Amino acid sequence: MTERFAQVALPLPLASSYTYRIPETLGDRAVPGARVVVPVRRRELIGIVVAADVPAPAATARDLLAAPDADTAVPAGLLETARWMAGYYGAPLGLTLKAMLPGGMWGESQVVATRARGVRVPGGLAGEVVEWLEGRGGEAPVAAAVRALKRPLWEVLDRLARVGAVSLRVEPPDTDAATLTERIATLAGDPPTLLERDTLFRRARQQRRLYEAVEQLGGSVLVSHVTGQLGFTVAVLRALERRGLVRIGRAERLRDPFADFPAVPPPATPTADQQTALAAVEALGPGDGAVLFGVTGSGKTLVYLEAVRRALAAGKGAIVLVPEIGLTPQTVSRLRGAFGDQVAVLHSALSDGERADAWRLLRRGERRVAVGARSAVFAPVQDLGLIVLDEEHEASYKNGETPRYHAREVAAVRARIEGAGLVLGSATPSLETMTLAESRLRLLRLPERIGARPLPPVELVDLRVAPKVSGTGAVAWSEALDEAIGATLARREQALLLLNRRGYAAFLQCPDCGEVWQCPRCTISLTVHTAPPGLRCHYCGHEEPLPFTCRACASPVQQMRGFGTQQLERLLAERYPEARLARMDLDTTSTKWSHQRILASVESGEVDLLLGTQMIAKGLDFPNVTLVGVVDADTGLYLPDFRAAERTFQLLAQVAGRAGRGPKGGRVLVQTRHPLHHALVWSARHDTEGFLREERALRETPPYPPATSLVNLLVSGPEERAVSRRATELADWCAGLLAKYALPVTLLGPAPCPLARIKDRWRWHLLLKGSSEVLGRIVRYAATRLPRAGEVRVVIDRDPVSLL
Ligand code: ADP
Ligand code: ZN
Ligand code: ZN
Repeated sequence: MTERFAQVALPLPLASSYTYRIPETLGDRAVPGARVVVPVRRRELIGIVVAADVPAPAATARDLLAAPDADTAVPAGLLETARWMAGYYGAPLGLTLKAMLPGGMWGESQVVATRARGVRVPGGLAGEVVEWLEGRGGEAPVAAAVRALKRPLWEVLDRLARVGAVSLRVEPPDTDAATLTERIATLAGDPPTLLERDTLFRRARQQRRLYEAVEQLGGSVLVSHVTGQLGFTVAVLRALERRGLVRIGRAERLRDPFADFPAVPPPATPTADQQTALAAVEALGPGDGAVLFGVTGSGKTLVYLEAVRRALAAGKGAIVLVPEIGLTPQTVSRLRGAFGDQVAVLHSALSDGERADAWRLLRRGERRVAVGARSAVFAPVQDLGLIVLDEEHEASYKNGETPRYHAREVAAVRARIEGAGLVLGSATPSLETMTLAESRLRLLRLPERIGARPLPPVELVDLRVAPKVSGTGAVAWSEALDEAIGATLARREQALLLLNRRGYAAFLQCPDCGEVWQCPRCTISLTVHTAPPGLRCHYCGHEEPLPFTCRACASPVQQMRGFGTQQLERLLAERYPEARLARMDLDTTSTKWSHQRILASVESGEVDLLLGTQMIAKGLDFPNVTLVGVVDADTGLYLPDFRAAERTFQLLAQVAGRAGRGPKGGRVLVQTRHPLHHALVWSARHDTEGFLREERALRETPPYPPATSLVNLLVSGPEERAVSRRATELADWCAGLLAKYALPVTLLGPAPCPLARIKDRWRWHLLLKGSSEVLGRIVRYAATRLPRAGEVRVVIDRDPVSLL
C-alpha cells in the first residue's frame, strides 16, 4: 500500500509549509483547504492542507492527527487567492490563511501537567511548581502555571517528568472552540450533598473542584472562563457534562444594534443614470470590474442593491465591503431592508463565536450576501457573483499587519479567480483606480445628485485675513462660521463640524524654554486631554498627568498649542448654550455600538451640532444637515507622505457631501490658511477629476504611484543602532541585487521613518521604486531570503498606503 502525504500551512511566520503523512482514516478528509490538527514539536496546532498527495519527504513525516470538518474550511477559490496574496505581498502562506478564517477556527493544544504521588521533589523552582500544582488539586494546564509563576517552566517540568514526579500529556486543540467560547456551563439537577459528593467524585477530584468553583460563582460560568481564568481543562468540563452534572448552552446573544435601525426599503425606481450604470454592471464579464464614480448623494447605494439583487436572482452570492462597519449603519440597514435574512453582517463588535457562526452560515450557503469591512473580502460566499467596494479610496482597506494586503487588490484577484463582477464605488475615487479606469476598469458615472439637487456651495474662509471672533482661546474662529452656525440653529436645522484632531490641545509647550512634552516611547508629541485630564500619546496610548511645572526649566507656566475636538466642544457649548451637542471621535466611541447611538440621535433630530473627526465625513445621509463647517482644513495637508494632498481632498469633498442632501439645500464653510493649495481649490469646486489631473502630474517627478510602484521595507527594533545597522545592511543587499541583475529600480534610503519611534521600537525604512513586475520579483526573492536577525524585524510593505 502506498503512503500518502499532505503539505500543511501553519499559522506561523514560516516561509515554508510542512509535510505530514495522511493516515488511512483521514484519507477522504485531508484534501486541499481542509482544517487539520498536526503535531509541531511538543504542541498540536490547527493548520490548513495546501496540497495533498505530495512526494514523500526526505526525513520521516509525522501523522496528521485529525481533520475535524466535513467540508473544507478554505474553498478552492479562496485557497488560490491566498496563494496569490502570499506571492504578491511576500507573506507566509500560513499567516495569509490565518487572516482569512475567523480567529475562533484556529486553536492550539494545551499541555496538562499532573502531579504523581509519592515521588519526592527537591526545593527551588521544581518545589514551587509542584506546590502550585498540588494547590490546584494536582492537575493544571502548563500555560496556567507559567502565567501564575511568571517564569519559563519547560526545563523544570521535563526534569520532573524524567524522575516521574509529574506527568505531561497533550490535550488536543478544541476544534469546536469557536462555539465553545460563547457557551455557558450551568449546574444541572439538585446539588449533591457533601456525603454524596464524596462518592460521586471519589476518583475525580478535578471534577469536584470545578463543580464547586461554578457553585461558588452562582451556578453558571462562561466556558471560556473555565479554561482561562479558572485554569481547568476542557476534558474536566466535558466529563461533568457527560455525567449530567453540568449543562452547556449558548450564552445570550448580544443584541444586534442594526436591528434598531429602520430596515430602510429601497426607493422603488432607479433613475435613468442609475439604470445605465446597472445595465453596465450587469454586462460585466466574469472577472471584469467597473468604477462607479458618483458624486455624493447620487444614489450609489441603490446601484449596489440592485446589482446584488440581480446576482441573487441569477443564483449567485455577493460581498459588499464598507470601510468601517460601525460608521456605515445606513448602508447596512439598506442591505438588511432589501435582503433581510439573506445578509450576514461581519462586524468588529462580534465576538469570535458569533463571527464564526456568520462564517459557517455563508460557507453552507444559508446566507448569500456578506457585508463587512476589509476582511469580509474573504467571506466564504458560495457561487460568488459580485463584489462591491463602497468608498474604494479609503485607507482602511489596507491591512496594517502581515499579510499587508489591500482589499481592493484582493477583491479584483478573487473576482477574476471565481468569475465574479467587481464594482468600486466612490465620489472621490483614488488616483490609482481612476488611472485603471483608462484600461482595465470600466468607468461608470452618476454625475448628478438625486432629484437634481445641487451640490452645496463651498466657501473657503482664509484664516489669515478673515475677521475672527475674539476670546476663543486657541481656536481660530471666523465670524463667517460663527454666523452660519447661529443661523442654522435659528432655523432648527443641523450642522456637522469637522476637526480632524482629537483631544483638547495638540501639544504642551513651555513658553520660557520651548520644551515640548513628547511620548517617552514614540517620537511624537503628547496630546492634551481634559476629560479625563492628562497627556496622552495617540500612537501607543501612553498617559501621564498634566505637569504643574516645566520639567526642563521648572518654569511654572505651560502653554497649550493647537486645538482638538474637546476644546472645540467647550467653545461650542459656550457660544451656543441652547444647542444640543454631540461629539464623535475615538474617545467617545470606544464602547460597543457607541457610533450607532450617536448617529441614531442625529438621525432622530435629538442633536443640533455634531462635531467630530474624519469619522463624521463618511457615508452619512441626513437630509436636515444644511451646514458643514471644516474648522481646520490644514491638519493633514503637510504630512510627509505623498498622499497627503489626496487624503485632504477626499476628506474635504466627502464631508462637504454631507451637506444639502435634503430639499432645504445646504452650504459648506472651510477654514484654512492655504486657500490656494490644489486640494482646497478643487474640493471647493467639487471637481474630483480636476484634482486628480493636477495631482497626477505632481506624481510624475519624482515618481510616485501611479507613475511607479512602491515597496517599503520597514526595519524596526528596540535599539536604534541595531536598527540603523540592519537598515544599512538591507540597503546594501538590495543594491547588490539590483546591480547583479541590472534591475531598473530606484532605491531610496535607508532613512529614519517620519515617525521615527513607535511603542519603544525605532523605525527605519527604505523605499524601492520601479515597475510592479520587477518589484514583484524582488519581493518574492526577499520573502524567503531575508535573513532573520534577532529582535530587529524587517517588514515588506508592497503598495504601502502610508509612508509615515
Ligand atoms: P451616495 O451613496 O451616492 O452618496 P445615496 O445612495 O446615499 O448616495 O443616496 C442619496 C439619497 O437619495 C438617499 O436618501 C437615497 O434613498 C435617495 N435615492 C437614491 N436613489 C433614489 C431613487 N432612484 N429615487 C429616489 N430616491 C433615491
Ligand atoms: Zn521650560
Ligand atoms: Zn507613544
